Amino acid sequence: MAHAARVRRVRERMDDLGVEVLLLSTGPDLPWLTGYEATPLERLTVLVLGRGGEPVLVVPELEAPRLGDIEDRVPGLTVRPWAETDDPVALVGELGRGARRVAVGDHTWARFVLALQDALPGAAFVPSSTVTAGLRAVKDPAEVDALRAAARAVDAVVVEMRDRPFAGRTEHEVHRELVERMLARGHQEANFAIVASGENGASPHHDPGSRRIGDGDVVVCDFGGRRDLYCSDVTRVYVVGEPPAEVADTWAVLVDAQEAAVRAATVGTPGETVDAAARGVIEAAGHGEHFVHRTGHGIGVEAHEEPYLVSGNTAPIEAGNAFSVEPGIYLPGRFGLRLEDIVVATPSGPERLNSAPRDLAVVG
Ligand code: ZN
Ligand code: ZN
Ligand code: ZN
Repeated sequence: MAHAARVRRVRERMDDLGVEVLLLSTGPDLPWLTGYEATPLERLTVLVLGRGGEPVLVVPELEAPRLGDIEDRVPGLTVRPWAETDDPVALVGELGRGARRVAVGDHTWARFVLALQDALPGAAFVPSSTVTAGLRAVKDPAEVDALRAAARAVDAVVVEMRDRPFAGRTEHEVHRELVERMLARGHQEANFAIVASGENGASPHHDPGSRRIGDGDVVVCDFGGRRDLYCSDVTRVYVVGEPPAEVADTWAVLVDAQEAAVRAATVGTPGETVDAAARGVIEAAGHGEHFVHRTGHGIGVEAHEEPYLVSGNTAPIEAGNAFSVEPGIYLPGRFGLRLEDIVVATPSGPERLNSAPRDLAVVG
């Protein structure tokens, strides 16, 4: 009854914040709360959760067959299908009448938010993340299991790629193979697959392109998708042929930095302290200026969510937080290196969900 418990916690949080109605449409909050994901359509789907009454899911009639056993997962939920000529915004307006404080999904299309504001005059709108972000950041056991299964799937892809040829193929060809292998390993969708070879590796979010991978190239592969609603995200580096000493030495620094950050990621430690643990190792090796992004991000039904491991985040890590630990070293015009695993904070210490080998993979 994980979803029932989540609805209960959301209601408590709404009480604390004085939010009278929660409206969830497209985006991660709805599947987290109900297991159902709205199709991003011009036809509005919205869950209306008042503090008092039972939740109502306003859904286009032709989407209703996708709902599955939602009424079993979310006790008390009523499905209100609307027909092609009905006005779903007016329906939500009736359900939410009189509300003074409304939380609306962060990912809800602006055209719907604007229409809903007209339909609920006098209500102040706040983003749903004010209600959900802190709750979503603390994973329950079912969510940790889902993240673990997603991590195992991409770990298998990491290992498969160690036996694959890289030289002579374009980044885009390798990208497509990563996507296909994620799907073959049980992901329903691929969110992204960065393949950044040679000097392209110095750009952390490089778009895989037509560059042909050659002898001696260092290739950053950062990929993830979703398996049963929960995200994976892993980064490993492949080198065509034996890596030169500079690449191997820099990689050793990164492995130490990641290990230091994982060890630091204990319950009660501020997010920024974990970031500083990785940064300290990289700075000591003289590469401080080449570590150009935060150390990590939370992960769940969304690939990037709270908590963020970044300077300025003083919030302590809580048991159940799941996040990436992904330090990188980027040398403009030359190559880049990044090492990323997903970690869950538990009362007995940080637990890595990824277990694929962390060495530089030598490929052909
Ligand atoms: Zn990134
Ligand atoms: Zn990543
Ligand atoms: Zn990541």
